Amino acid sequence: MKSEDYIRLENKYGANNYKPLDVVLTRGEGIWVWDVEGRKYMDCLSSYSAINQGHCHPKILSALKQQAEKLTLVSRAFHSDQLGPFYEEICQRTNSHSVLPMNSGAEAVETAIKAVRKWGYQVKKVAPGQAEIIVCENNFHGRTLTIVGFSTEEQYRDGYAPFTPGFKTIPFGDAEALEAAITPNTVGFLVEPIQGEGGVIVPPEGYLKSVREICDRNNVMLILDEIQTGLGRTGKLFAEEHEGIESDLTLVGKALSGGFYPVSAVLSNKEVLGVFKPGDHGSTFGGNPLACAVARAAFSVLFEEKMIENAAVQGDYFQKRLKEIKSPHIKEVRGKGLLIGVELVPEAGGARRFCEALRDKGILCKETHTHVIRFAPPLVIKQDELDWALERIGGVLV
Ligand SMILES: *Cc1c(COP(=O)(O)O)cnc(C)c1O
Repeated sequence: MKSEDYIRLENKYGANNYKPLDVVLTRGEGIWVWDVEGRKYMDCLSSYSAINQGHCHPKILSALKQQAEKLTLVSRAFHSDQLGPFYEEICQRTNSHSVLPMNSGAEAVETAIKAVRKWGYQVKKVAPGQAEIIVCENNFHGRTLTIVGFSTEEQYRDGYAPFTPGFKTIPFGDAEALEAAITPNTVGFLVEPIQGEGGVIVPPEGYLKSVREICDRNNVMLILDEIQTGLGRTGKLFAEEHEGIESDLTLVGKALSGGFYPVSAVLSNKEVLGVFKPGDHGSTFGGNPLACAVARAAFSVLFEEKMIENAAVQGDYFQKRLKEIKSPHIKEVRGKGLLIGVELVPEAGGARRFCEALRDKGILCKETHTHVIRFAPPLVIKQDELDWALERIGGVLV
């Protein structure tokens, strides 16, 4: 079958909730992927940062195969010999006290919302049913009903009401707005260190530091959604490290499995996750042996193969060289590490046509928020490969 045959099948039988670029992929290795016609592309999206370690990383693949032949699922009704070692490794490496494993990113967000609400009632003594969580405009935290209920993106909400109450929205990057929005009923502040889907929006320097201080002073739990910014993407293990702070709850997903399998987790100080008792929350697949084995391997290769340092070095280089491109279409280049957004001027007519032109030159990326091209290649990319990409990006943007 050819590309158009596969696309026809998807269109015929699938719900129409995505509009992918017309490329049908069949194989991946490191930063490269191949389509069914055998054409080779550089992956500059990394599945929204789920492939930080590169496609089909051999060590993660081997962990997956070995575990798949032994034991894949016990449910949390029984213990497994994979869960404890996974907990220990992730807590030690991230300086966390406690971890709760789930599957998708949205489930980690939902878990954090449940945990801070319960913490609010049990520990902060908020009156029953009154807990408030503050979120930011232009956020992206996933697609469940509760989460889209506090999205400010009209399309994400349209047609899905009624929504979960208890959320308050403030502008992103504005610490004073946070201070002003907090009431005695505020239990948590949920925020992305850099808004990824929102268009790679980097907050002003010092924002997270101020936010940390305000949350401390008001006994509000700081929940950082690092599902996209975490695990090396911005050149640090977590983006919070750029400002030398620590969240109360950190949400990880995506690259936690190196793209092999949905694995997410809530990492926390003891106090917050400590509110859960047996039966309060759960997931059949959350923390299963296969997920644990894959996540441990995906996590350790980030360190063993120095991917985080590489993201910092190559990210600086990539951003600097992108800024040097002289193009009437570019409004701004911004980002941290290998999470980079190139915002185009409105007259450019949207980023989609440039993504299509880049695909024809062998680079896969995706527009976000109509006018932004996001460049987020796997963290194993090398400088000569970036040079190869930059030549083509420059050619498309002139
Ligand atoms: C992708 C993403 C999510 C949702 O993860 P899913 O696995 O798609 O549910 C949540 N928060 C952020 C910041 C994300 O980028």
